[in-house]
Amino acid sequence: MRPCPRCQRPVVYMTPQCVHCGLVFAGPGAAGHDAGMRMLLPVGRTGLSIVAGYVGLGAILIFPLAPVAIILGVLAVRDIQRKPGSHGMGRAIFAIVAGALVSLAVAAILLT
Ligand SMILES: [Zn+2]
Repeated sequence: MRPCPRCQRPVVYMTPQCVHCGLVFAGPGAAGHDAGMRMLLPVGRTGLSIVAGYVGLGAILIFPLAPVAIILGVLAVRDIQRKPGSHGMGRAIFAIVAGALVSLAVAAILLT
């Protein structure tokens, strides 16, 4: 049990919401739960960041996708910045980094 931050009445520790006043907790337990759910479900993610993530992953196997991954990643970052509260920045950054690394690797192979 722990006290509710708003109404101070005791609530069960892992409960995501206070049964007394309805406050949704943003504590360590609740945050971890949210993060876990976001890993499983694309909740709050922009469609572009999901596509960018997959193309970034694909670029590692299919080299010509690398420039596409960078473009999609940049577009996804801008999309997320335009929509406060949306998630998927990690995927967008991953797409840019994966695309850039694959591009550099291909360039290095072609130049040697
Ligand atoms: Zn409460």
